[in-house]
Amino acid sequence: MPLATLRQVLDEAAKGGYGVGAFNVNNMEQVQGITEAAIEQASPVIMQASRGAIAYAGPNFLRHLIMAAAETAPEIPIVLHLDHGDKPETCLMAIDLGFTSVMMDGSLLADGKTPSDYDYNVAVTREVVAAAHAKGVSVEGELGTLGGIEDGHGSGEVHLTDPDQAVDFVEQTGVDALAVAIGTSHGAYKFTKKPTGDVLAMHLIEEIHGKLPETHMVMHGSSSVPQELVDRINAAGGKLEATYGVPVEEIQQGIRHGVRKVNVDTDGRLAITAALRETILANPKEFDPRAFFKPAREAMKAVVAERLTQFGAAGHAGDYEVLPLEAMAERYAGSPVGA
Ligand SMILES: [Zn+2]
Repeated sequence: MPLATLRQVLDEAAKGGYGVGAFNVNNMEQVQGITEAAIEQASPVIMQASRGAIAYAGPNFLRHLIMAAAETAPEIPIVLHLDHGDKPETCLMAIDLGFTSVMMDGSLLADGKTPSDYDYNVAVTREVVAAAHAKGVSVEGELGTLGGIEDGHGSGEVHLTDPDQAVDFVEQTGVDALAVAIGTSHGAYKFTKKPTGDVLAMHLIEEIHGKLPETHMVMHGSSSVPQELVDRINAAGGKLEATYGVPVEEIQQGIRHGVRKVNVDTDGRLAITAALRETILANPKEFDPRAFFKPAREAMKAVVAERLTQFGAAGHAGDYEVLPLEAMAERYAGSPVGA
């Protein structure tokens, strides 16, 4: 089965009323853990790579790892998505590499740090949509900025998404999915106390969904940062500070109001680090790396399987046949932006 596009996977998620987890990948064990979880849960899944991930693994390794996942799990719709493309050229590079979906994050300038103005965001996103849709590739845009820094990406400032501007943005750009800023942030240190409905502007999601029922919303920075994982890391010599993530119930509420893609990176990192630290500490005479990476891969699998179930995607892998890029390109050609 070919890699799936974000557009199709999220259209199906909207039909089924569930969300799909988007998990960041950098190495083989992460890709394998996610693939095994998706097979076990019979769930569609999004694997996403940041620029940092492409630099770490190398573009060829990354692409072939995902292709290996698709060959291993032909029954699973798998999307290969570029996380936080910083400029149109990066998105075009990813499309050439075989990514079936790209994020053009025009909420920041090409330095990945400075908040941009609205016209810049519309212009770069529109440019990427035109090039991507011609090849059937999906595009995620971002309006508003999240807090926190991830892989060197982020302004650290929070600007919540304005619902009316979101309507204009989607009309002008034709994006398939829209990352909304509702008060979440990237990284492990999201909140200093358990966030409530006031801290997370969940009402914005409902409002945007009411105005844009056909646009799939994306929640970034949506790791839940399980206390158990933080405790295990610290018990095995780690020094993480007290922190809170986004409660799963808040994500589930978002899914009820049009959130279809849920980005989870930190939880996988924590699970892997906990497993590695514990195994290394408990086996001082061991020096076969497989002894450490096997439990790390299992830990990744466990957290991904749990999220896929919580987001409601489990059991939906067989609902549809994956459409190849050519079919998606034809679909876009029939409904150009602004038509
Ligand atoms: Zn993000």
